[in-house]
Amino acid sequence: MDAIAVKREKTRPERIDIERPEPDEGEVLVRTLRVGIDGTDFEVLSGSHGEFPEGSDYQILGHEAVGVVESSNGTALNEGEIVVPTVRRPANTSSRFFENNEPDMAPPGEYVERGIAGAHGYMAEYFTTPESFLVSIPESLADVGFLVEPISNVEKALELAQRSRSTFEWQNSAGLVLGNGPLGLLTLAMLADRCERTYCLGRRERPDPTIDIIEELGATYINSRQTAVDEIPTVHEPMDLVFEATGHAKHAFSTVEALGANGVGVLLGIPEDWEFTVNGGALHRQLVLQNKALLGSVNSNIRHYKRARNTLAEYPDWFLASIMTTQCSVLEFADAFEESPDTIKSYIEFST
Ligand code: NDP
Repeated sequence: MDAIAVKREKTRPERIDIERPEPDEGEVLVRTLRVGIDGTDFEVLSGSHGEFPEGSDYQILGHEAVGVVESSNGTALNEGEIVVPTVRRPANTSSRFFENNEPDMAPPGEYVERGIAGAHGYMAEYFTTPESFLVSIPESLADVGFLVEPISNVEKALELAQRSRSTFEWQNSAGLVLGNGPLGLLTLAMLADRCERTYCLGRRERPDPTIDIIEELGATYINSRQTAVDEIPTVHEPMDLVFEATGHAKHAFSTVEALGANGVGVLLGIPEDWEFTVNGGALHRQLVLQNKALLGSVNSNIRHYKRARNTLAEYPDWFLASIMTTQCSVLEFADAFEESPDTIKSYIEFST
């Protein structure tokens, strides 16, 4: 069968021919429908993130997938059911986080990540996985189901933010998303129903398709070249909720400045090392004296996938159509990894 992989010492994806996997006991054989591409895939390709599966000279890419159950192999799933796989699997060690169905909270060393670190991904015609790592979705979502994984990361981040504000009557009126990449736009669309006013910060000039989407969602676009994150409370208003989805390390700290009293900021972006100066005293003081919270969040668990399934079903059709910009067949796979200003979300279609 065809698979898209990166080989050791290489930084470009390749189409390889491998044997179709056989499901072990308790595992399901899934026929892949679509696999999305995000920034993490580029990090895996460049070698800056993740690691190859032990003993393998290639890594099958892809962690945002949707497929159809080809063989239920005696599990409770039905053949033909549409399913989305989760990303983390236990490493060769016991982990209370996996036992508690909270793999997203497991520390490094207790997990591998399919398509990212230590395990093959889903960019192949078929994959196998234990039933417990699959979430069923309605057939009506089959075409967009690969978005459940990124949305689930936002669901987890939102849960953490809300729980951190659950000890008082928190007013979540103004929400800001830093970043107009796929994750930022998926987050913004989610906040449209949850905040009275929404804002999204990017660094692009008009005309730009992401700015059109931001405004169509009813949000205000903020150009970071004109308004820095820490100026947002003065130019617009102090924020109750900030999602950082740029990976620009300075934003982690300016998020504190963008928040109003009692606000919460969640950091999702994954930056590279970068040394710079911050006024740590001022940030520390604001966090304490204004009851602000700053949280980091990574990955998600089955509960978040199930919520993401519902969120996905509620997104307007025009929004999904406008972010899913680049569909490629397996033979055209290289085009899916080409970046351009008009590309928001690329995906590879393995079967229909
Ligand atoms: P992208 O890289 O596609 O998007 C990042 C966006 O932020 C781009 O639109 C970019 O603008 C914008 N941006 C970057 N720097 C600045 C800046 N200084 N000022 C204004 N805008 C800026 O990534 P994704 O949307 O896929 O993901 C966002 C981040 O979240 C990434 O760091 C990713 O690694 C991380 N991530 C984290 C997860 C988690 O669980 N914590 C899960 C998935 C992703 P432009 O396009 O113009 O360059």
